[in-house]
Amino acid sequence: MKTTLVTDITIKDVCDGFVYNELEGKGLFGLSGKLTIQPKYQRNYIYASDGGKKEMAVIDSLLKGYPIGLIYFNKVSDGKLEVLDGQQRITSFGRFVNNKFAFKGEDGQIQYFRGMAEDKKTKILNTKLLIYECEGTETEIIDWFKTINIAGIELNRQEMRNASYSGNFVTLAKEEFSNSQNANIQKWSAYINGSVNRQDFLECALNWVSKGNIDAYMSLHRNDTNINELKKYFNSVLDWVSAVFTDVEREMRGLEWGRLYEKYRNTAYNPTKVSVDVQKLLEDPYVKSKKGIFEYILGGSTDTKLLDIRVFDEATKKKVYAIQTKQAKDKSNCPLCAVGHDANKKRIWKLAEMDADHVTAWSKGGETNIENCQMLCKTHNRVKGNR
Ligand SMILES: [Zn+2]
Repeated sequence: MKTTLVTDITIKDVCDGFVYNELEGKGLFGLSGKLTIQPKYQRNYIYASDGGKKEMAVIDSLLKGYPIGLIYFNKVSDGKLEVLDGQQRITSFGRFVNNKFAFKGEDGQIQYFRGMAEDKKTKILNTKLLIYECEGTETEIIDWFKTINIAGIELNRQEMRNASYSGNFVTLAKEEFSNSQNANIQKWSAYINGSVNRQDFLECALNWVSKGNIDAYMSLHRNDTNINELKKYFNSVLDWVSAVFTDVEREMRGLEWGRLYEKYRNTAYNPTKVSVDVQKLLEDPYVKSKKGIFEYILGGSTDTKLLDIRVFDEATKKKVYAIQTKQAKDKSNCPLCAVGHDANKKRIWKLAEMDADHVTAWSKGGETNIENCQMLCKTHNRVKGNR
């Protein structure tokens, strides 16, 4: 890859013909039309999120005369350039110069560019940028792009993949799943964690349809001219979830719905009963893992491990152990050993050799309190637990 350092391009030059697409959250063009700010492998503008702290920092640096760092352009055909690194910073000052947001100074004063003193305006516009113009093959450029960080915000895994497999498919997929204007996002957010701009919904959709093999899937579909399969699968999963679980609960967010869909989609459920069961478990103080409730119900309400039922505390165990051991007389202090016929019939176990057990199982309404606690030797506890 060949690189040339260019130092005479100013912010004014880059802002000439600056176009920002509000709908897609992208800075599009600059430098009198010669520069493409958001090539396909770039991500959405994220400096405006987090209360705009990042974009403010860019303007603050410019006003103070601090450098805003190296910017990389990629030379494409006939004098055209693409931003390889620096898109977020360029979009920040481009938006500012075009009065898209106001700068809040340390004195608390809020100013739009147009309202600023002339000397400050001139200072910003005349700032010279430090730009490397690169020339190389697509592979070289993309490989290089994968290894860099952009102004402290590392590309996440999905942003890397979007860069690696850039093409028709990624473009279409981002329009659907990485578009903050998509009206479905609120609905999706009930089931999926993350942010649109950081590609979390896209990653989730790809993860589901590919059963976890996102890279293989993106590589295979790279040049597809539609995303029908991806969309259809994603919607099937969400339709299924919302049909089985008619109430949307906070604890549903971020569960592995793709895996659960594959495992349980052919099982029939009664949504009314499911809804009652969910509520009961959500309110049950012995259920520690509320997130496990949904899979527990899908699996027929048998695998209590998913619920992480509250266990007996050490004080209770010691107390019960002491009572059982005192009452044991010439028999074992494990009640199941005591009624058995083997060598352990009279064995007095140490506390460390025993485990606490619910006399009446939690699933049958048994509580986690001293009245429902018995100490069993480890062997018997395991046998009972597996029933
Ligand atoms: Zn025993």
